[in-house]
Amino acid sequence: MEIYDVVIVGAGPAGITAGIYAKRARLETVVIEKLGVGGQIVLSDSVENYPGFPEISGYDLMQKFEEQARAFDLEIEDGEVIAIRDEGEYKLVKTDDRDYKTRSVIIASGAKSSHLDVKGEEEFIGRGVSFCATCDGFFFRGKDILVVGGGNSAITEALFLSKIVNKVYVAHRRSELRAAKILQERAFADPKIEFVWNSVVEEITGKDAVEGVVLRDVVTEERSKLAVSGVFMYVGLVPNTEFIDAEKDGAGFILTDERLATSIPGVFAAGDCRTTQLRQVATAVGDGALAAVSAERYLG
Ligand code: NAP
Repeated sequence: MEIYDVVIVGAGPAGITAGIYAKRARLETVVIEKLGVGGQIVLSDSVENYPGFPEISGYDLMQKFEEQARAFDLEIEDGEVIAIRDEGEYKLVKTDDRDYKTRSVIIASGAKSSHLDVKGEEEFIGRGVSFCATCDGFFFRGKDILVVGGGNSAITEALFLSKIVNKVYVAHRRSELRAAKILQERAFADPKIEFVWNSVVEEITGKDAVEGVVLRDVVTEERSKLAVSGVFMYVGLVPNTEFIDAEKDGAGFILTDERLATSIPGVFAAGDCRTTQLRQVATAVGDGALAAVSAERYLG
C-alpha cells in the first residue's frame, strides 16, 4: 500500500491551499473530496472580500484555485472519508471505497447549512425550502420569498435574491443583524427587502409546495402568518467532522492549537471545520497554508 506524507480531507479553499503548500514542500500528498472541488464557496454568486479579486463568483475563484493546484501536480481523488484510524506513526484514512495510509492528515472538510428543525422544513426541501439561493433562486422569479437568519449568508443571499424575486422578507430572531456593516447598508437601502425583526419560524406550511410560514414574535409571543412561495435557510453551519475522534467544541467544530494541531498527534485541521472566530475564504486560505507547514514540521 502506498504511504502518503499527508492526506488532506476536503478540496475547498483550505484543503486546496494546504495541497499547494504540501506539494511545494515535496510531500507525497493526496486530497480526498466527496463532492466537487471548491467547497461551499462555489455556491456564492459573488465574492468581493478575497483580496486580489475585486469581484468574482465563488465558482470562478475556485476554478483558479484548482488550476493553480493542478500546476503543482496535486492529486485530488473522489471519495467520502468515513473514518480516520490513528495507528501511531501512521493513520488510516478510510473512505467509502478504499483506505489511505499516511503519516499525517489535514482535515479541511468544511461545514454544511444548519437546519431549523421546524415542521414542514424537511417535507418541503426542493418544493420551496432551499439552502442555496444561487442554485434555486431562479425558480422564484417574480414571487415573494422569506430568508431566515441575520448573518453574512442570510444578507448576502437576500441581496442576490432581491434581483430575481418580487419581494424578500428577512426574518431574524433579534433586532440587530450579525452581518458585515456593508451588507447591512445595502440591504437596508434595498426597497425589495423587508425585515421581520425578533421573529422565528415556527412552521412552514403548504399543500404540494410551500405557501407560507407561521412566525412567532419572540418579544410579544404573538404568532402571524406570512404568505411566501420560498423559504431560504441561513441559520448557521454544522461542521463535517463526524468521521474524526479529535477533541471538538459543543457544536462539533474541531479544537486546534496555534499550529492547527488537533488532539491527535499528526492530525491538523483547517478552515470552517475547526473552532475559529471567522469563516471566510481569506481565513481558510491562511489556515490551509499553516496546517501544511505544521504537517511538514511534524513529519521532520
Ligand atoms: P452565522 O454567521 O452563524 O449566522 C447565522 C444566523 O442565523 C445568525 O444571525 C443567527 O442569529 C441565526 N440563527 C442561528 N440559529 C437560529 C435559529 N435556531 N433560529 C433563528 N435564527 C437562527 O452563519 P452564516 O451567515 O451562514 O455564516 C457562516 C460563516 O460564513 C460566517 O463565519 C460568515 O461570516 C461566513 N460568510 C461570509 C460571507 C461574506 O463575507 N460575504 C458570506 C457568507 C458567509 P444570531 O445573530 O442571533 O445568532
